[in-house]
Amino acid sequence: MSIKENLRNIRERIKSLGRDPQDIKLIAVTKTIPVELIEQAIQAGITDVGENKIQEAIPKNEALKQKYPNVTWHMLGHLQRNKVKQALEKFNLIQSVDSERLAKEIDDRRRTIGERRTPILIEVNTSGEATKYGVKPEEAVKLLQLISGFASIQVQGLMTIAPMAADPEKTRPCFKKLKTLSEEIKKLNLPNVKMKYLSMGMTDDFEIAIQEGSNMIRLGRAIFGQRPPKL
Ligand SMILES: *Cc1c(COP(=O)(O)O)cnc(C)c1O
Repeated sequence: MSIKENLRNIRERIKSLGRDPQDIKLIAVTKTIPVELIEQAIQAGITDVGENKIQEAIPKNEALKQKYPNVTWHMLGHLQRNKVKQALEKFNLIQSVDSERLAKEIDDRRRTIGERRTPILIEVNTSGEATKYGVKPEEAVKLLQLISGFASIQVQGLMTIAPMAADPEKTRPCFKKLKTLSEEIKKLNLPNVKMKYLSMGMTDDFEIAIQEGSNMIRLGRAIFGQRPPKL
């Protein structure tokens, strides 16, 4: 199937859930995907691109940004503090902030650039898996209270990565947990903290995520097909 057909299929699946595809932001996850295919996706209507590694994102961003200046770039992977400067140059939304140290580095870097606040999402480890990044759910409020005092950051929501599971239903409790947490945070009315986005749901579980309140899904294989195996 072509990328165009895959996108049509995704929209149909969202409609089958009784939802308007316009209300769910779709991010094309382009790790390992060559620039030509990313361009095809953009021409087929993709407006948001997500990458995991800054090193991989830089050449793709440089190849595409002039021709497609309106594409929004999302940083999805773990971000090291020494890469923050580059990340701020290439990405519009950093979805993987999970510590005060990282947030402070983003805040400091943004202040030296001036201009607006950096939009970020807080990554929450809802599965409790030791291999996953993300702040623990019970520590998220404390982290948000600290970040809400930073002058050059604006929190726009939460992100989570559910566990790989043979049965996608196993992901549902993680999505529920993120949604509940976002409701709790909303009630706190912290300055510079908005719960506009719940970034959850990937190829195997996006329908479950949407049922549980996701309004931002991150799809790789559903758009581009199977990724080549890791070397
Ligand atoms: C790879 C990846 C995705 C997309 O995965 P698919 O299963 O191919 O849809 C989404 N989010 C993150 C953080 C990823 O690393």
